[in-house]
Amino acid sequence: MTDVSVVGGNNLHLPPRRSSLLSSSSISSPFPSPAVAADALVTTRFLGYLKVWRATNRIFDSVDLHLPDVQLRTRAAFCRVPASAAVRCRDELKGIKSKGEGSDNNAPPQPELREGLHAACHALLSAAPAILGCDSSDLGTECDSPYDSRFRPMRLLLWEKNGGGNAGGGGLAERAADSFGELLLAALDIVAHCPSCCSAAPPPPPSSCSSSSSSSLSPPPPPPEGCPECTFWSGCSEYNAVLHRGAARIVLEETIRAAEAAAAAFDGVGGSGGNGAGDGGGGLF
Ligand SMILES: [Zn+2]
Ligand SMILES: [Zn+2]
Repeated sequence: MTDVSVVGGNNLHLPPRRSSLLSSSSISSPFPSPAVAADALVTTRFLGYLKVWRATNRIFDSVDLHLPDVQLRTRAAFCRVPASAAVRCRDELKGIKSKGEGSDNNAPPQPELREGLHAACHALLSAAPAILGCDSSDLGTECDSPYDSRFRPMRLLLWEKNGGGNAGGGGLAERAADSFGELLLAALDIVAHCPSCCSAAPPPPPSSCSSSSSSSLSPPPPPPEGCPECTFWSGCSEYNAVLHRGAARIVLEETIRAAEAAAAAFDGVGGSGGNGAGDGGGGLF
């Protein structure tokens, strides 16, 4: 289990920022970056491990561990997710459950938003190589666990893995914060137009896939959590659990919408009194 705590910066008001770095991709954001970079403390806690039969992959024992936490001081780039994303997830995805959840009404409330935040963070990592010119393994994010019921901040966050162990980092978090608008757009494109999910089956109602192909042998529907080409990340510490592709699209769309609204408000008052990006929805940290 890994927790990321932002320990620096001004978390209350995040002014939209014009990019000061040249992006290495052809994607250009029409709105300023809604993100900032700040000091972060990444804490990894080992709770235990499972014993598994190699022949059947069945779990036959679990062992609790009592080890000291492993902490890394580094830098993180993050932006708020407006509360409108939670409203849309509740309204548009009501009754659509991810794999592993029951179809009855006993599921925990509002799981789609957590799944969407996790999947959107994975999509940002997939977009990072094209936008930042780095490897996706150079960055980490907040991976949600199916066993974790604690409060989950409504934010999209990328933290720098190779910061040298000091709070200054290596500059990648600053570049990510500077190009967060491009990252959001690229991540939304990955999630909304995944070739595997869009061509595998007729799209579900919340999907934006434009595929209209149909055959007599109907393929299986795309998994709601997505696939390795869109929402999965090979470095996920929670083995790609707690993901939802449709919710990730909503999270990214609403974050972009809030960033555009904040930029418009900022420009409308001459750049002197605009609210922070993401304030339109009242996102929490
Ligand atoms: Zn996919
Ligand atoms: Zn993950």
